Amino acid sequence: MLETLTQCPVCGKDEFKDFLTCQDYTVTQEKFTIVQCTNCGFKFTNPRPDEAHIGAYYQSEDYISHSNTKKGLINRVYHVVRNRALKGKLKLVNQLVGQQPKKLLDIGCGTGFFLNTCKADGWEVIGSEPDPKTRAFAAEQVGIEIQQDIFTDKFRPEQFSVITMWHVLEHVHQLDKTIQRLHELLSDQGTLVIAVPNANAQEAQKFEATWAGYDVPRHLYHFTPETLTPLFEKNGFQVQKHLPMYFDSYYISMLSQKYKTGKNNYPKAVLQGWNSNQWAKKHDNNYSSVIYIIRKA
Ligand SMILES: [Zn+2]
Repeated sequence: MLETLTQCPVCGKDEFKDFLTCQDYTVTQEKFTIVQCTNCGFKFTNPRPDEAHIGAYYQSEDYISHSNTKKGLINRVYHVVRNRALKGKLKLVNQLVGQQPKKLLDIGCGTGFFLNTCKADGWEVIGSEPDPKTRAFAAEQVGIEIQQDIFTDKFRPEQFSVITMWHVLEHVHQLDKTIQRLHELLSDQGTLVIAVPNANAQEAQKFEATWAGYDVPRHLYHFTPETLTPLFEKNGFQVQKHLPMYFDSYYISMLSQKYKTGKNNYPKAVLQGWNSNQWAKKHDNNYSSVIYIIRKA
């Protein structure tokens, strides 16, 4: 079932204009409309599958984040990059935690690789993951119980010094409720680390409807620094900065190229990814994906 939002999830106003019609290239090939709020500029998929029916849109063999196969060049590159990315993420959370206790919650932890990396570095870790199979896999990998969602009473207020959401917030139906729960669970000096695609990115402008960062209908929102910031501010946070995710521009360009032309063109994708990063450096860190560093106001 589709549900139609009548109020902007960021500013609450009710006037939207159609922005783009995009296709679900990975699972159903269905088309979805992205609207833009005429007041605050927020872009979101509307109408969208409701919470009870979104599961069908995740049924794909192509979701390599859920598998561990090393076949093929792209998967090999993916694994090398993933291991480097894991180390980069660990370095970041170690910087952010300072002298506080190392207690981390990873929301949407997937197969648990990031949790494992942190655990091996001495962090006390907990994760949540909605998909039952993936959750079971993660529990086995990390050797801890993984929760289905963050509203469990197993988590205590202010329990965590760092909460991470790596490419998760754009999938969450209930934004305010979720962000308010983050406020409860995070310690007063703690840090939220929120990574999402950035609809301001250069490739988003170039590829338009075939930009892989839109990934409808799984991506319910298409954040930018100008729209994510007020969303967190109204829920008691302040956004301190946003940081680049350099590799995402290459990966997203590769997929976008395929959606646009129907076939892979790796050299072109690499060039586009590089261009996008160069452009972002000169345009207020508007990289393909960005990591927001957020603290309580
Ligand atoms: Zn708005």
